[in-house]
Amino acid sequence: MTPQDYQQERDVAVAAVREAARLCRAVQAGITPAALEKKDRSPVTIADFGSQALVCRMLQEAFPNDPVIAEEDATALREAQHADWLEQVVRHVQTLRPAARPADVLRWIDHGNAPGYTDRFWTLDPIDGTKGFLRGEQYAIALALLVEGRVVVAALACPNLPALPEAPAERGAVYAAVRGFGAVSLPLDGRGGAVPVRVSTLRDPSQARFCESVESGHSSHSDAAAVAGRLGITARPVRLDSQAKYAVVARGDADIYLRLPTRPGYVEKIWDHAAGTLVVAEAGGVVTDAAGRPLAFHYGKTLRDNRGVVVTNSPLHEAVIEALAAVGVA
Ligand code: AMP
Ligand code: MG
Repeated sequence: MTPQDYQQERDVAVAAVREAARLCRAVQAGITPAALEKKDRSPVTIADFGSQALVCRMLQEAFPNDPVIAEEDATALREAQHADWLEQVVRHVQTLRPAARPADVLRWIDHGNAPGYTDRFWTLDPIDGTKGFLRGEQYAIALALLVEGRVVVAALACPNLPALPEAPAERGAVYAAVRGFGAVSLPLDGRGGAVPVRVSTLRDPSQARFCESVESGHSSHSDAAAVAGRLGITARPVRLDSQAKYAVVARGDADIYLRLPTRPGYVEKIWDHAAGTLVVAEAGGVVTDAAGRPLAFHYGKTLRDNRGVVVTNSPLHEAVIEALAAVGVA
């Protein structure tokens, strides 16, 4: 069977994350040192809701029958005590969609509240890596289409990721993939063409560059260090927030991304992995859980059958899974 190219879905997904990235950039640029000092989370709240509103608006217009499972819902925004949040979200959305009224914004956000699994649905993380967003570092807008439990389209905007290692001042790209058609990088601003992305060809585990979460509460740094030791890796891990880690492996700037459980009972959310997984797979890499099992996206909001996530360039995968078992993590 020839794979379906999902051209319209891909184009809408890329346009949606690009528009959301413009809103997120505007909000992030307004984070003051005083807000950072106070650990004020309101900028990420505003950008999270604004991003979800814009992406869901575009999906609803293009594919009115597709359910969307997104991370946020508008309950808090409807509360009188949060009227200032709603006012700020609407103001930011209006810079891109001038006709948007508060009721429209609330309705678009709630379009992302599909209750669970269906044969065809979208999943969205409007801002993945909220802590990175607040620190002025890495975050992503991650959108994926799932058909019959498989990710078939992905669009991952990484507004702060240096576009090329040789031009670190230029930031931001969209990574897009369609199952069976490869992964590409596109400029965030809509100008310029698609460039194919490919994982590294490294085969020697001891030379691997690995990345992990900045937050040790999201992924065990000590277990990752044990795995690295077992593989003979001496380079220090690269730590960055969000699914930008998947993009970094997909384009060959790192060879391994480890996400290892920090506590029993945590289940990974589909919106934290769906887009990144397809981008890496279509760039030639492999994604499994810590036991080497494929991620199972057909249970609704969570990856309840999986523990941890292991992403590699493919040639290194087996060695990493063996090392996890040897140090007793899997
Ligand atoms: P990262 O930026 O890679 O550290 O991951 C951010 C994501 O981690 C958030 O979107 C959360 O959904 C997710 N998260 C929150 N708590 C945990 C946890 N205990 N283990 C793994 N992921 C978590
Ligand atoms: Mg997230």
